[in-house]
Amino acid sequence: MVVGILALQGAYEQHRRMLGALGVEGRLVRTPEELGDCAALIVPGGESTTMTRLMQANGLFEPLQAYARGHSLMGTCAGLIMMAERVDDARVTPLGLLPIEVGRNRYGRQIHSFMAPVQLAFDPEGAPFEAVFIRAPAITELSAEVEVLARHQDRPVMVRHGRHLGLTFHPELTDDLRIHRYWLEELAGG
Ligand code: GLN
Repeated sequence: MVVGILALQGAYEQHRRMLGALGVEGRLVRTPEELGDCAALIVPGGESTTMTRLMQANGLFEPLQAYARGHSLMGTCAGLIMMAERVDDARVTPLGLLPIEVGRNRYGRQIHSFMAPVQLAFDPEGAPFEAVFIRAPAITELSAEVEVLARHQDRPVMVRHGRHLGLTFHPELTDDLRIHRYWLEELAGG
């Protein structure tokens, strides 16, 4: 199984490391052609304004929307912002894959990053996941059919809609493989 990782900018190498630890080849994707035979795609964290520009410059916007109709995407942090339907910043053009509204940098400018334990809905008996939040967005609205898989202080921080998964934090910056494994096995068809 080959899984693509959108590698325009941001934390894509760390996702490749996680996939490798699960025995899956991660392919860095920068053009529509490279999406090719990828079974699923990770949209990593980074900077959603920059990602918008690079997505458009590389002609990836429509190919990604078409790809998402038949394949699973997992977006983390800026990746979640790119997958949303609505974003509170006109410089970001989201792909509209998750029926949610997202606000950028919602934990205050002074809080650059923090860690917090979150309970995973698909592992209710397991230890909490040590979630890393970096200039994290918040999900400010979500439609009824969106499933919340983790919360932090009553805010949804991991959501699923159909085959797509979105997280406001960075699971690739830990050694905990549970979220990548869940995505691969349950949504990405691995
Ligand atoms: N603050 C970034 C943005 O708005 C997201 C940060 C991240 O991906 N760690 O795009």
